[in-house]
Amino acid sequence: MLETICDTLVEAYRRNWITSRDGNVSIRHHDRNHFYITPSGVRKQTLQPDQFKKIGISPSGMLWQDLPYTDISANLKPSGEIPLHFGLQKKLGQHSNEVRVVVHLHPTYCVAAMHRGIELSTLANEFPELSRYTKVAPNVGDVPPISQELADQCFEKLELDDLGNIAYDIVGIKGHGVVAIDTSPWRAFEHIERLEHICQIVLASGKY
Ligand SMILES: [Zn+2]
Repeated sequence: MLETICDTLVEAYRRNWITSRDGNVSIRHHDRNHFYITPSGVRKQTLQPDQFKKIGISPSGMLWQDLPYTDISANLKPSGEIPLHFGLQKKLGQHSNEVRVVVHLHPTYCVAAMHRGIELSTLANEFPELSRYTKVAPNVGDVPPISQELADQCFEKLELDDLGNIAYDIVGIKGHGVVAIDTSPWRAFEHIERLEHICQIVLASGKY
């Protein structure tokens, strides 16, 4: 599945949803006390599975640990958005018998719509093809990138509970990007794709 994550990031770059070194993805198998996350500062067009970072989850769930994985990854650091990924990956609720994939990207029209003042969660009411398949959380406001505050605000808007259940598939962060969660890289990607398409339509319409 790490190979598939690389494919989704190449496609995200091709679609202008990230610049070369933006975006990050993590993946956890439900029966393992570790997850994999994309490294910091690596060009996503050339990302390889052996560059991923393996992150251990402490029994208390309070701490993460950089575990040995490959020689190449030993010289890399985990994505700066690790507080976001760790907070979601350490809890497994509705994805408890599956894989959980967390994808963070900067899709152009989603970010443009939030910049324009559009609340992404309300779009779903007007576009059934979006709301049928993708539950959109209320926007997160202005928070610094790679911060615990960004992570905490995302958990709150996604309604992450103590059992690891979340009420939504995707959340937008104003002036920044989106976070989508599902059971495979492409399924998480598709939540972003659907929301991005609707945002493009809404902005093209000129009617807000
Ligand atoms: Zn970002």
